[in-house]
Amino acid sequence: MGRHLVLIGGGHAHAALLARVNRITDRGASVTLVSPEPIHYYSGMGPGMLGGSYTPKELCFPIAEMCRDAGVRFVEARVERIDATSQTLTLSTGDSLSYDVLSVNTGSSITPTIETDRVTIPVLPVKPISNLLIAQEHLRARGEEGSHILVAGGGPAAVEIAGNLRRFVQSLGAVPDKNTTIELMTGRAVLPGFPPRVENRVRRCLRLLRINVNRGEYVRRIVGDEVETTRQSIRPDLVLQATGVVPSRLFADSALPTGKDGSLAVNRYLHSLEQKNIFGAGDCIWYTPEPLARAGVFAVRQTPVLATNLERMLLEPASKLRSFAPGGGYLLLLNMGDETAVFVRWVFGIPVVFAGRWAWRLKDRIDRRFMSHILGARMPTGVAHGIE
Ligand SMILES: Cc1cc2nc3c(=O)[nH]c(=O)nc-3n(C[C@H](O)[C@H](O)[C@H](O)COP(=O)(O)OP(=O)(O)OC[C@H]3O[C@@H](n4cnc5c(N)ncnc54)[C@H](O)[C@@H]3O)c2cc1C
Repeated sequence: MGRHLVLIGGGHAHAALLARVNRITDRGASVTLVSPEPIHYYSGMGPGMLGGSYTPKELCFPIAEMCRDAGVRFVEARVERIDATSQTLTLSTGDSLSYDVLSVNTGSSITPTIETDRVTIPVLPVKPISNLLIAQEHLRARGEEGSHILVAGGGPAAVEIAGNLRRFVQSLGAVPDKNTTIELMTGRAVLPGFPPRVENRVRRCLRLLRINVNRGEYVRRIVGDEVETTRQSIRPDLVLQATGVVPSRLFADSALPTGKDGSLAVNRYLHSLEQKNIFGAGDCIWYTPEPLARAGVFAVRQTPVLATNLERMLLEPASKLRSFAPGGGYLLLLNMGDETAVFVRWVFGIPVVFAGRWAWRLKDRIDRRFMSHILGARMPTGVAHGIE
């Protein structure tokens, strides 16, 4: 029997890895991917889907089908525990699965910072991205009647969601400022951690879009249909929560070494500090050499290193592992929902900030190229299927 690689989660890194998994399977090892859902949405295009720029198909990784095409066994389940001593996983289905080498790409979910009690209005975390389709359904049901929408959070995801909500409600015939209000309850600031120049540019764009920005205000509790913030009580029709992310408890529950937020602590080879046959990538890891932002771009940058190291650990255990170099800052492109984007790039430590249609076109091109790279590797047409 060949050695067995198990991939937990079908996030950005594992979806990209499937394109080259034949380098492992062709050499006699078997591969299994475990994920609770047979499809996964690419978050970079999620706000654009909410606004109506993309159909769900255009940002869907059909993970189960990609596995089938690549000769990888797909198991639809959530991993509940990793027993590193017996090299066995406990699945939500009650089954267990053993591995020789393990890779985790389980991402993160929205931090539950808001207390809730007998809630009667829709309150949707913006991850998983499929929740944005549910938000559209709620707004469609209200149609031209208009809505009061509250977005809790002030980071890039919250800003993009607010801008794209405006585009979506307009497409339904609702009129922002007349029968529709979109409020961003940012907490500390808009884009906390970014210099004031960036915040000011983004706030100017939000003002033009007639999105109310409540800076310094936090959502505390939701009781029934009433939202209590640090300054007022309001009754919105829909709440979207984009209040930062947290990894699952899987690693802490499995007594593996973790970072301070519970993510799997890994070294520069992307392997667990204690278990040399457990690797990870994306939002679910704590990269001990230096802190990394929770951004999909790092999951993507880590994929070639993860793939090489998994191959070596499985098939050439005596060979040297490759180390990951994060590659400095990254280009931030915020899709504002009106076919413009805010462009932010650090040049010699100074943020260069622009906004315009060309920045949106650049983001659109980068995102579409990423999708066709992943899907095109298996289907020449580059068309996702299996969902509508
Ligand atoms: C609205 C929004 C827009 C964003 N836009 C951008 C952007 O433009 N650029 C950017 O760089 N970042 C962006 N981000 C951040 C980005 O979403 C994350 O950094 C990225 O999703 C992390 O990717 P990942 O591969 O680590 O995990 P994910 O994409 O979160 O995937 C994890 C997968 O693992 C599965 N899983 C979880 N737990 C288990 C388990 N126990 N067992 C089995 N499977 C499990 C999940 O179901 C999921 O399929 C955005 C985030 C949001 C919310």
